Amino acid sequence: MEPEHLKMYIGGEWVDAESGDTFEVKSPATGEVLAILPNGGPEDVKRAVDAANDAKERVASIPIPERAKLMYRLVEIIKQNSEKFARECTLEQGKPIRESIGELADVEPNILQQAEDMIRLEGSIHVPIVKHEMRLLSVWEPLGVIGVITPWNFPWLLPTECVPQAFMAGNAVVFKPAETTPISGVRLVQCMEKAGFPKGSVNLVLGESGPIVGGSLVEHPNVDGICFTGESATAEEITRRAGMKRLVLECGGLGPLIVLDDASLEKAVSDTVYGCTYNAGQVCVANERILVHERIHDKFLELTSREVKRKKLGNPLIEETDVGPLNNEPLAEKVERHIEDAREKGAKVVVGGRRASGFQTMLYFEPTVVDNVTPDMLFNKEETFGPVAPIISFSDLDEAIEIANSSKYGLSAAVHTNDITKAFRFAERIKAGQVIINDTVCLWEYQHPWGGMKKSGLGRMGGKYSLQAMMEQKTILINVGRSPGAP
Ligand code: NAD
Repeated sequence: MEPEHLKMYIGGEWVDAESGDTFEVKSPATGEVLAILPNGGPEDVKRAVDAANDAKERVASIPIPERAKLMYRLVEIIKQNSEKFARECTLEQGKPIRESIGELADVEPNILQQAEDMIRLEGSIHVPIVKHEMRLLSVWEPLGVIGVITPWNFPWLLPTECVPQAFMAGNAVVFKPAETTPISGVRLVQCMEKAGFPKGSVNLVLGESGPIVGGSLVEHPNVDGICFTGESATAEEITRRAGMKRLVLECGGLGPLIVLDDASLEKAVSDTVYGCTYNAGQVCVANERILVHERIHDKFLELTSREVKRKKLGNPLIEETDVGPLNNEPLAEKVERHIEDAREKGAKVVVGGRRASGFQTMLYFEPTVVDNVTPDMLFNKEETFGPVAPIISFSDLDEAIEIANSSKYGLSAAVHTNDITKAFRFAERIKAGQVIINDTVCLWEYQHPWGGMKKSGLGRMGGKYSLQAMMEQKTILINVGRSPGAP
């Protein structure tokens, strides 16, 4: 198939990069060039920010129920095209088609719920303490211009957690999707245009270099807030470059799944395998480390290895495929590096452990189990982001908590146990934004505060928290004793 030529969207027009440069997006599944896109630079970011800046007051003045109607229309348009979008998502990201269909299905509750949250967002009234004739009202206001920067592992879900919501909160938006999955980003903005979002309210910038396009957006003085999802190292760079902009940073994780010796073993095994192989392990809340009590270790290893061997690695467009290719070459090299590091330090690769041959690209990685992993290995220090279950043994809950907390990340953690006291001891001592009892690390909901501790992030998203992260709180103080005619 001929690659499609796509464009950026600035001030309501589909445009090329000012330089005329382009870049290609290749499918990790087939190696084919899927699309040719403008390779934007700082001058294009400037155009987009100018357009957003011109539009921001018009956006803020749109009544909230009118903004919500645009969200309802957007959801309908996405739903009408979801089959096509899911296929494109699989081709550019690499995930199995049923996962892309699930990702597209998640867009609806996510957007609709936050439209409702905005309609019902409450301010507050406070009791005056200094001057009793004052009345104090606290209200929410849009920030102005929001830059949204997203990664490649969920090309639909992550932009639709921020881009429509930034508008719903009354802001104009400049959106920069990831360089390996920009097609889904373009489709989202095409849908927003079709739904009738006003010119300049949503702008799209594209480019091959994250630091150049994303970095220019982060640094631009007329951008008021950045909503970023991606690696912790990138987030740290953003904090250095953003100055005093409002930041919400959703970053990496090293999710520990702890299996105590009283846990229901079958459930723990199936949750482990799911959370290590879903989206080939390329999830911020993947089960990155499996901590197993030494008394049940052998049985757990046997059952987990059997389940992982059953996972079908293959062409992600085929319905039966469980695990597709990794998204990109640097990531595949990182997964190899982590396995090699563990091998050198004494771990044992029990299942898989390498790239698979016989596919159209060399990005297909065998679902893997590694045993005898210890806390000094890279598996316990850096995100692996591959279809790997690294197994660490422990002898009691305190040791498990110490290992779990020893990493720099703190996003999502899970414990399997039938003892409520131990479950709560774990939940209260673990440093993570989300703790799960008796399920996989790899899950998320839409309305609770979502985000990480330590290097996993800053701020909270989800439900009204996403809206509040993209707004300012203002207090209005009224002296009711000074109205004409006041006693
Ligand atoms: P990344 O940090 O490399 O890139 C993310 C986005 O930032 C891309 O659009 C990229 O072009 C841009 N970017 C790169 N350098 C930049 C810079 N200097 N300034 C501004 N923007 C820049 O991350 P990735 O590899 O695309 O995504 C995977 C990461 O995302 C993993 O660490 C994963 O855990 C994390 N993630 C977190 C969550 C969460 O909710 N916490 C969700 C999904 C993914």
